[in-house]
Amino acid sequence: MPTSTLERDSGLLWHPYGPLDAGAHFSVTGADGPYVELRDASGSAHRLLDGMSSWWSVVHGYQHPVMDAALTTQIGSFSHVMFGGLTHEPAVELAERLVAVTPDGLDHVFLADSGSVSVEGALKLAIQYQLARGRDRRRFLALEGAYHGDTTGAMSVCDPVGGMHNDFAGLLATQLFLPRPPLPEASAAEVHEWSVKAENLVDAHGAEIAGIIVEPLFQGAGGMRPYHPAALQSLRRLATEIDAVLIADEIATGFGRTGSDFACRAAGITPDVMCLGKALTGGYLTLALLCSGTVADVITTSSHRALMHGPTFMANPLACAAANASVGLLIDDETSGWEPAIGRISQALETGLAPARRLDHVIEARVTGGIGVVELDRPVDVGLTTRIAAEHGVWVRPFRQHIYTMPPYISSPEVVDTITAAMVAAAAAHGDGCEFEVAS
Ligand SMILES: *Cc1c(COP(=O)(O)O)cnc(C)c1O
Repeated sequence: MPTSTLERDSGLLWHPYGPLDAGAHFSVTGADGPYVELRDASGSAHRLLDGMSSWWSVVHGYQHPVMDAALTTQIGSFSHVMFGGLTHEPAVELAERLVAVTPDGLDHVFLADSGSVSVEGALKLAIQYQLARGRDRRRFLALEGAYHGDTTGAMSVCDPVGGMHNDFAGLLATQLFLPRPPLPEASAAEVHEWSVKAENLVDAHGAEIAGIIVEPLFQGAGGMRPYHPAALQSLRRLATEIDAVLIADEIATGFGRTGSDFACRAAGITPDVMCLGKALTGGYLTLALLCSGTVADVITTSSHRALMHGPTFMANPLACAAANASVGLLIDDETSGWEPAIGRISQALETGLAPARRLDHVIEARVTGGIGVVELDRPVDVGLTTRIAAEHGVWVRPFRQHIYTMPPYISSPEVVDTITAAMVAAAAAHGDGCEFEVAS
């Protein structure tokens, strides 16, 4: 009879992008600050640094006193109420804060229960905007290497090869894709060549394109890769030219992760719609949102009026309370804010990952703000990487050819050093001829 949590999980629960019988590496028994407490299959206990911030979200660490207190207070008042016909202080306060901190011109907020759902909302908003303008435009222009979530609309704008287009052909709308934009260090000629491709695609399909959707300046789960700001600027220009809605999916990049509060700001552009999630609630609860400007006004003054979306748990008060506390820590608080944190983390990542560049099978080791990526010339062996990182006191979850980290913002330089040492050791262990459990 299986007795441990790990044994009972296997074959019972699906995990993200994993087979039913693959199970998990560890079960979690507790977490505090940057640490997670785990038990492995043999029953041994581990206390590891969370190099993943639980997928970009737990930026303040676990059991943060300010976050915990905000939720306890809200539970003492009310935990949920429908949002149709009703409103509440946590939602209004959150929307006011978001309008204040996002680039000027993004004045209206739609609250969604996850990042994927906020992307659905953004796509719908773009289509309804076009309808309000008297145009029937339903296609989107997206980037190869993109990741925008797992729901149907979001999947349709994910990378057509690495995404799920083949499995769900027929269900997914067929969108338009541009090649991955050039890297930040690309030459002016390369950037120009890419921009011409973008222009040509827009020239050919402008009358069908409702919107352009991108992860600004850094592609996350689809490829862990930064790109040149001029590419984003040309998409802004093209969207304006054809009156398409420019959607900036800042679900991963928002709140400082790439080294500016929002990646759009670093490129000097304002999108028509911005999606935010992940770090929004400090990883305490699922919540995402989209902010928009005049596109929302156009819909409101047309015969369409409403954005046709309204989930059961829209504006959940606990999630809003967590978001208010998280955004307060990220933006208003000088010591816990994203800026000093990312400065500190970025520098430690640079130093700590440099030795990986000397390894034969490492293509590159790259730091973008608070993100560190080691790219191998082969798929990462997940089992090997997990074991070696754990021996170094670190939890990382590699993906395809990447061993990567986005440490919690509370991480000291010593914490980042431990994470990078584990990553370099794991990369070094990928010598030729080793057995593979391939990362997906
Ligand atoms: C994670 C992510 C999403 C999806 O968010 P979920 O909350 O997982 O649905 C969408 N876009 C980007 C850029 C992301 O990183």
